[in-house]
Amino acid sequence: MAHVRLDGIAHSYSGGAAEADWALKTLDHDWRDGGAYALLGPSGCGKTTLLNVISGLIIPTRGRILFDGKDVTALPTEARNIAQVFQFPVIYDTMTVYDNLAFPLRNRGFPGPEIDRLVRQVAGMLDLADDIGRRARNLSADAKQKISLGRGLVRPDVAAILFDEPLTVIDPHMKWKLRRKLKEIHEQYRLTLVYVTHDQNEALTFADTIVVMHEGRILQVGSPQALFERPQHTFVGYFIGSPGMNLIDCRLDGETARIGEAAIPLAGALKGAAGTAPSGALRLGIRPEFLTLHDAQGPGRVEVAIRTVEDLGNYRIVTALLGDTALKIKLDEEAPIPADRAWLAFPPGRTLLYHDDRLIEASP
Ligand code: ATP
Repeated sequence: MAHVRLDGIAHSYSGGAAEADWALKTLDHDWRDGGAYALLGPSGCGKTTLLNVISGLIIPTRGRILFDGKDVTALPTEARNIAQVFQFPVIYDTMTVYDNLAFPLRNRGFPGPEIDRLVRQVAGMLDLADDIGRRARNLSADAKQKISLGRGLVRPDVAAILFDEPLTVIDPHMKWKLRRKLKEIHEQYRLTLVYVTHDQNEALTFADTIVVMHEGRILQVGSPQALFERPQHTFVGYFIGSPGMNLIDCRLDGETARIGEAAIPLAGALKGAAGTAPSGALRLGIRPEFLTLHDAQGPGRVEVAIRTVEDLGNYRIVTALLGDTALKIKLDEEAPIPADRAWLAFPPGRTLLYHDDRLIEASP
């Protein structure tokens, strides 16, 4: 496997100069050897374009790609040693499972006994061993996509394996099993994996590092925990989490952030840092999980009106109005919820501030 570096990658399909014409807008990123990455972002943000730039299906308009320090930007896909698995099965229907899995190895001149060992190993990993002699066309859609995954995983000599939403066609129950399976395979073999998805649950169960993209840019790279607790950009806060982060227009007033008339206390270290922010839109960010509801006034609490309560089985989502601003609060099923009016507490250690969508870092 290889360390894959993106150095100033930008791509425009149309060749136009306007910012909107660029599907990728100057990306720099290192994919470490043996890392399991999820490339996460909404439809149209540039995930597939980036994957195709790594595999060589697209030559970027600007920038370089380095595999273990070697510049591969101008090399075609065949010369890059990358395995790619797509949304839909790319297999030979008339061949057996065995021959489908053996195909990429035979193509590259692997010796027969090695082919046999690798094919049986991958068939075992993906629970395809019992079907190994059957023709692909006689198998279910799930099994066909497993063959496609197997063709990606079977080559021990690849620099990286790229997955472009490979579980889209798989039924939901099997999807969960296959995600776990890919995770286990990664833990055992330490492959460099890049997995494109727009589904945060898929990204969170599969990857140790998540790369969040939006409008052709990488906004944040981090562990699931870092993305949850310290989103660097309001989009990351809103996109990750269910529901996403509450983001509320505010202004600074002494040691508090003001939302209308309500004064929200800030953590000590944040007060100084926020005070130095240049003028611009200031927003307070807080996860629905960190807000608490009370039936009595207390220090730092603000009064809200309860609007709706959604019961989602093991937790509930409360929508409350603070002045005109609607806030989401996520509570476990036992937490008491006042009927009409309540007092809301913003734990200062969990309250973040954003200036022009960027996180204001508290000074230590
Ligand atoms: P999805 O999750 O829907 O597949 P994505 O994040 O993978 O989306 P891309 O498919 O990389 O996004 O698209 C990024 C941008 O480039 C979009 O604005 C898209 O319309 C544009 N685009 C993608 N492929 C082409 C193409 N072949 N020609 C012109 N524009 C394209």
